[in-house]
Amino acid sequence: MTTGTVATDRPEPTAGSAAGPAPGPAGHVDAGAGAVLPPRADRAERGERAQAAVERLRGSGVEAVAVTWVDNAGIARVKAVPLGGLVHAAQWGVGTAPCFDVFLADDTIVTSRLIGGPTGDLRLYPDVERIVPLAAQPGWAWAPGDRYTQGGAPHPGCQRLFARRAVAAAAEQGLALKAGIEIEWVVALAGPEGEEPRYPTTGPAYGMQRLTDLSDYLRDVLRALGEQGLTVLQIHPEYAPGQFEVSVAPEGPVEAADTSVLVRHTVRAVSARHGLRASFAPAVEAGGVGNGGHLHLSLWREGHNLAHGGPGPHGLTAEAEGFLAGVLGALPELLVLGCSSPAGYLRLVPSHWAGAYQCWGLENREAALRLVTGSTGERSSAANAEIKCFDATANPYLAVGAVIAAGLAGREQRLALPPEFTGDPSLAEPGTVPRLPAGPAEAIAAYRGSAVLREALGEPLFEAVLAVRQAEAEQYADVPPERLAAATRWRY
Ligand code: GLU
Ligand code: MG
Repeated sequence: MTTGTVATDRPEPTAGSAAGPAPGPAGHVDAGAGAVLPPRADRAERGERAQAAVERLRGSGVEAVAVTWVDNAGIARVKAVPLGGLVHAAQWGVGTAPCFDVFLADDTIVTSRLIGGPTGDLRLYPDVERIVPLAAQPGWAWAPGDRYTQGGAPHPGCQRLFARRAVAAAAEQGLALKAGIEIEWVVALAGPEGEEPRYPTTGPAYGMQRLTDLSDYLRDVLRALGEQGLTVLQIHPEYAPGQFEVSVAPEGPVEAADTSVLVRHTVRAVSARHGLRASFAPAVEAGGVGNGGHLHLSLWREGHNLAHGGPGPHGLTAEAEGFLAGVLGALPELLVLGCSSPAGYLRLVPSHWAGAYQCWGLENREAALRLVTGSTGERSSAANAEIKCFDATANPYLAVGAVIAAGLAGREQRLALPPEFTGDPSLAEPGTVPRLPAGPAEAIAAYRGSAVLREALGEPLFEAVLAVRQAEAEQYADVPPERLAAATRWRY
C-alpha cells in the first residue's frame, strides 16, 4: 500500500491534536494517573455527544454498541451495551476486570507483578467520536474503548491510552504521524473445530481466478468497509492458499489502530455471512507463507512529509532518518509488541516476504524495514516506511505506540541508518545481515533490556506484556509447528 493522502471523513492528524496537556520529554510516556490525559471530569459534555450519537445511530437501525479493547495477547475483547445505555456508558464507563491485562490468547489467565488477580474493576469508555454502525452486523455499532480506573484516572495498563500518549509525545516535538496497517487474512470454508482448513478457491497467488471465484464475497467486504467510512486503497489475492489483503488510507496512529480492529472484524462478519471463516493468524499452515500485519508510518512536521526532500538516503530528512534508525535498532524488542504470538515465528522466516532480517532497503520486501518512496511526482505525500516483520497478533495500539517511542528516541539521539541492503539478505555473506529473533525467548530478552520501552509503556503495562509473552512462550515451547499453527489458527 501507499500512504498517499486520500480524503476520509475523519480529521487529518496534526501535531498537537491528539491528546490534551503536554506530555514529558520526547519518548517519555508517563503512565501516572491523570498526568497526561484529561481526567474523566468532562462527563456532561461526553453525555451530550453520546446523546447526539444515539440519535444518529437510531436512524441507522442500531440497537446495540460493541465496545472493544485489545488485550496484551492481541485479542480484541468486548463489552456491549444496548443503544439506550450508550449515554450512561459514555459518562460512567462500562465495568471491565483488570485481569484481562494478563489473559493469554487461549483464555488462560496469568498474573504479573503489578496487574492481575480477581480483585478490582475498571471503567471502559466508548470513544464516541469513533462509533460506527457495523455494515455486516445489522443492528450493531462498534466503538473502541479507553480504560480508566473507577476514580477517573487513566488505567496504566490501557494500551489505547498508551498509544495516545505516544502520539502526544511526538506532538510535543512538533511531529505528527500517519499510519496504516495492512490486513492479510486466509479465508476457509466454515467447518467443524479441529478440521484442517479447506479453501473456497484454489486459484493461483494474486490470480484473477481467485477474485472471480469469490467476487460476491470480496465485493461485500469492500461494500461493508466503505459503508463504515473507510477508504479502501486496494484489495487483492495474496500468496498463500485462500489468502487476501486489504489496505486502507492512512490516518493518525491511534485511528489506524482502531481501523485495523474494525477491518478485521468486518472481514470476519462478512465471511460468516458467506459460510466462510477468516483467519488473521500468522501461520494458518506451518511452513507456508503467513499473514502479516505490516505497519506503514510517515512522519510529518508542519504539513511536510519528513521522508521526502531531505539530504539523507532516498530523500530522508535527518529527523526521519533518526526516527527510522531508532525503530530499526529496536526491532528485536519491538517484536514483543508487533509479533505477539509464538506462532509469529513460524511466519517470520527468510524468503517469505515477512522481513526476517534486521536491515532496511528501498522497496525491499525481505528487509524488516522497507522504505517506500512512491512514484516520481507523488513522493511528498506517499513516502513512508513499512515495518514488515509485524503480524496481526500484535495489539495494534501497543505496536504503534512502541514504534513511535523507539523512533522518537532515535531522532533525539540523531541516529543514522546503517547502509541500505538490496536483494535477499538470506543470500548475503553469512553474518553480515543480522537475523531478527527466531523465537520469542530472544525477543523477550531484548525487550527486558529496553529502557526506552520500559519508560514509554510504564512499569505496569511493560510488566503485564512481559507476563503474557513469557507465559505463551512457555506454553508453546516444545509444541511442534503443525500443532502451534493449529492451536492459534482460529484465535486471531
Ligand atoms: N504475507 C507476507 C507476510 O507474511 C507479506 C506479503 C507481502 O509482501 O505483502 O508478511
Ligand atoms: Mg501483502
